[in-house]
Amino acid sequence: MMQNSKINENLLSVQKNIRDAEKKAGRKEGAVKLMAVSKFHPLEDVLQAIDAGQLIFGENRVQEAYKKFQPLLSQNKNIELHIIGQLQTNKVKHAVEIASSIDSVDRLDLLQEIEKQCSRISKSIKVLFEYHTGEESKSGFLTEEAIVEALEECKKGTFPHIIPTGFMTMAPFTQDQALIKKSFQTLFSLAQKMKVQYPMFNFEELSMGMSGDYEIAIEEGSTMVRIGTAIFGERNY
Ligand SMILES: *Cc1c(COP(=O)(O)O)cnc(C)c1O
Repeated sequence: MMQNSKINENLLSVQKNIRDAEKKAGRKEGAVKLMAVSKFHPLEDVLQAIDAGQLIFGENRVQEAYKKFQPLLSQNKNIELHIIGQLQTNKVKHAVEIASSIDSVDRLDLLQEIEKQCSRISKSIKVLFEYHTGEESKSGFLTEEAIVEALEECKKGTFPHIIPTGFMTMAPFTQDQALIKKSFQTLFSLAQKMKVQYPMFNFEELSMGMSGDYEIAIEEGSTMVRIGTAIFGERNY
């Protein structure tokens, strides 16, 4: 657990860096939203972030997310939880109960299960299509064709409870800024192309950038950065 003042301070400093990066990149002020990634950090830390005004959170394991957020979400309707980690089919039921968005959709059959579970509880949910753009990460659709195949199903109306909202990626874990930049540019181009190809969807979200690379991501068009360490400190796995 971290000191209250520290989390508050970190949030302010990340917010300021985001505003500075927006300005530097010629982006509109407020164009980039901040998601606080609270995985492996206790409920107390989440509560402190909420006290400091943070409302968008990301978790990558459903069981952990459910335990921390299920009670919070019923108390505070303004809190928005995103699932950002690889999602197993058997975890979808709990995931859609707590999440307002599944940001790590990486296969067609996951959409089928999300639709099934959302339909069961009459809930609409946003999804982002995760695209594999970096060497090291294993997650995400591997090809544009596979994303197109999934979007074609959405277009046909196969998933009435699913709202395609945009794209997500993880840059490679490297010091090589050029490689990181290239990964973000790849996602940006994909999104541009899909916006033209699928005008019926409102693709407004580009989730890219983490503690180590969010300023580069903002330069490359990110609309939502996912920040863990820079807010909550190092994780104890
Ligand atoms: C953990 C995680 C983050 C946050 O990473 P930090 O480097 O701690 O900011 C962002 N995105 C995903 C998908 C993650 O799993």
